[in-house]
Amino acid sequence: MTAAKPGDSVEVVTSEETIKGTLLQTPELEKGVVIIKLSSGYNIGISKDKIKKIALLPQQRKEEQIEKAVAAAKEKTQRKLPKISILHTGGTIASKVDYRTGGVVARFTPQEILEMFPELKEIAEIDSRLIRNMWSEDMRFAHYNIMAKEAAKEAAKGADGVIITHGTDTLHYSSAALAFALEGIGIPVILVGAQRSSDRGSTDAATNLISAAYFIANSDFAGVAICMHENMSDSSSLILPATKARKMHTSRRDAFRPINSTATARIDYEGRNIAFLAKDHPKKDKARKLQLRLFNEKLKIGILKTHPNMYTEEFAAYQKFDGLVIEGFALGQAPINQVDEFTTEHKRILAAIAALCKKMPVAMASQSIYGRLQMNVYSTARDLQAAGVIGNLSDMTPETTFVKLAWLLSNYKKAEVKELITKNLRGEISERTEPAAFLV
Ligand code: GLU
Repeated sequence: MTAAKPGDSVEVVTSEETIKGTLLQTPELEKGVVIIKLSSGYNIGISKDKIKKIALLPQQRKEEQIEKAVAAAKEKTQRKLPKISILHTGGTIASKVDYRTGGVVARFTPQEILEMFPELKEIAEIDSRLIRNMWSEDMRFAHYNIMAKEAAKEAAKGADGVIITHGTDTLHYSSAALAFALEGIGIPVILVGAQRSSDRGSTDAATNLISAAYFIANSDFAGVAICMHENMSDSSSLILPATKARKMHTSRRDAFRPINSTATARIDYEGRNIAFLAKDHPKKDKARKLQLRLFNEKLKIGILKTHPNMYTEEFAAYQKFDGLVIEGFALGQAPINQVDEFTTEHKRILAAIAALCKKMPVAMASQSIYGRLQMNVYSTARDLQAAGVIGNLSDMTPETTFVKLAWLLSNYKKAEVKELITKNLRGEISERTEPAAFLV
């Protein structure tokens, strides 16, 4: 159809439009599609059936190459590019639409991802490898340990920062897990996901990945964080605190929001500008000693959401577990009061909770998501505390409470867990409840 090779500037003429851009490598599974990178940074796939002509744009290509070479040479003499390691775990960001089935399944290789986002190479010296190839709903504690160990390896090799690409569904659990596991890390470790696969025009992968790389290369931030879209446009991304963020929408590209916190920073994607929004952040220090504090992969920790019409068996199911998070109502309540003839079950629920507390730490978290537990206000939560439920005054998300409980049980004695669950270790508990941190 054309003599153009990947990397060439081309003009693609279809029956509907004429599209100019850079021709990209067509992945194995999509031989029927031509993929073009537009000047906006978007990639689009055009079905070969629709294409009338692909014309090479030799003049433009030459100029572009010269411009790029001059810029690269200038950049090299001015400064050495920082080293960023990208560790891929899978998820939508590494996926593409399988045009045979219409589903998002097939995966890009790390090399293909790099080729799709050539801007990355202008920001940093990139080293990219696959550490897993999975959806994030399948993550287990063992995977937290793999990610932590691999990130630590990159730090030891001298990386200036690490990007971990990850499915979005449980990305906030993983970010919390890494924040706890990578104690004192002196470089940034940024988790990046995408809500639209990288081969789609509307993908958020480019903005999120490039913003994360830009942030690593141009700020003094160290520690674990998330980088995702700020709003529905592609103009900016947010750096979100690893322990105080959550996926709050099933499909929007700006699904990740800070919870009971501000975002850490905003990256203006188009203007390439970083604005810190949080008052303070841990600073880069490559000499700082990292303590790798991993998860005990055998631990069984549950999360149980309270709801009307509960039964004792729901609590009793956790008897053989090592720890439990009760995602209670609002300030920290659960159905434990016998108020009439229909609520006799509730007395048994309280006894079941007390029995669990004798065997394991049982921590409260609020299903309200926003706000702080206050378990001294109503007698219900006071009774729960008397039964042994811990966590009062925490404003952690249920997910962070779950991860923290698992991590504490992996690294501390049971008696210490009770003290530490409400002590701020990685920014997971805010000192004050800021009204501005609601529905940000
Ligand atoms: N459920 C998948 C995952 O979390 C796809 C969602 C995504 O990557 O955004 O890995």
